[in-house]
This record gives sequence, C-alpha cells and structure tokens, in this order.
Amino acid sequence: MRVVLIGPPGAGKGTQAAALRIRLGVPHISTGDMLREAISARTVVGEKARGIVEAGRLVPDDVMAEIVRERLEAPDAVGGFLLDGYPRNLDQAQTLDGILEGRGKGLDHVLHLALEDSEIIRRLSGRRTCESCNAPYHVTSAPPRMAGRCDVCGGRLAQRPDDKEEVVAERLKLFRERTQPLVDFYRKRGVLRDVDATGSITQVQGRLEAALGEARIGGASR
Ligand code: AMP
Repeated sequence: MRVVLIGPPGAGKGTQAAALRIRLGVPHISTGDMLREAISARTVVGEKARGIVEAGRLVPDDVMAEIVRERLEAPDAVGGFLLDGYPRNLDQAQTLDGILEGRGKGLDHVLHLALEDSEIIRRLSGRRTCESCNAPYHVTSAPPRMAGRCDVCGGRLAQRPDDKEEVVAERLKLFRERTQPLVDFYRKRGVLRDVDATGSITQVQGRLEAALGEARIGGASR
C-alpha cells in the first residue's frame, strides 16, 4: 500500500501516521522528521537545511528529491509506505510520480487532513515534541504522563523552533500557496480522500479508517 498524507502543519499527520503505519504494515516516512534528525546529527544535508527549516520555509526540491528517492529505495519501503510531508508542491509531486513510475507502481491513496487556521494555531502553539524520538504531545489535549518527559523514550520535550508564532504564519502561508494545489491534482486522479481533522485523535483515526475502507470498496468495484 502506497499512501501519502497531506495536510496543513498541525493537522495531526505525525500523530495519525503512528497508528496508521501499524494498521497498514508499512513504514512511516516523514520528511520533516528526517530533516530534523539530519539537523541534530549535523550532516551535510542537515547543515544546509537548518536555517530553512527553522524559518518555516521549504528546503529546495533537488535536496528533497535525493532524500526521498534514497529512502523509498530502502528494503522496508519496497512493499509500500506512508509518506508524510512529501510532496509539498507540484514539482515534488511530479518527482514522486517519476520515482514510482520507475517501479511500475503508482500511489494507492492520498489522505487529505483538512483543518481551519484558528485550530491549527491553537494546536501548534501547544505542541511539544520529544527531542529524541519525535513523538508529539500537546500541553492541554495530549500531555505526557510526566511533565516535560516523553512517555515513549523518556526524552526531553521541547517546542520545535518552527512552532513559534511568527514561523507558523509563514508555514501556513506556504501550505496554502504551494501544497494546497496538490489536493486538486490528486483529486483529478481519483486517489484523494478528504478527512475532517477536527476533534480528538481517536475521532480522526476513525475517519481515516473509514476513508481507507471506502477507498478499498471503490477500488474493488472499478
Ligand atoms: P514537517 O515536520 O512536515 O512540518 O516539516 C518541517 C519542516 O521541514 C518544513 O517546514 C520544511 O522546512 C521542511 N520540509 C519537510 N518536508 C519538506 C518538503 N517535502 N519540501 C521542502 N521542505 C520540507
């Protein structure tokens, strides 16, 4: 199963992907997590990306193409993947098509998590992320068991530099201008499923399951 998750920052892509990847039996590939790991490890790519990511802008398409191509070639991704954070613009969507065409296997589903700006800002301002394993939390709606510590690995929780208010505005603007057009692009192709991202984690999870169920029924009857 080859699935892409699209949605504005704060729509819950990372949170939902953690459960979805188990249900689908495919790796969760988050380009944001990969960049943050490269930044902490101070790799060449990480050093190139640091300032761009912290300012909420987009890392150049050629850099992203290399990262994604290499990751999708790894043995665990050959049978399928849940891609989160890529593609983020039309050029990247075409690059992804090219990578998959080489394998003769297109995308099965594009899940679009839709959320209004006011809720995005509420979620991002309270978001805290584990510095070690990237697990996401929220100060009021999904707090950790022990304040400031990750439930999964005990790592330190911190606010991502790009979750600061001024950077969030830039990320949202870029999402609406560059990424939103992908919704129509994939809708025309018949692989898009719109999912309402408001409400609790469990509610959204249920809607994603239903969307995938419908997609399978639709797919079977084609
Ligand atoms: P995310 O965790 O998906 O919100 O990504 C965090 C940041 O990483 C973004 O704001 C961008 O700076 C960078 N990034 C992640 N994925 C991409 C991509 N596909 N293209 C360009 N930049 C990206």
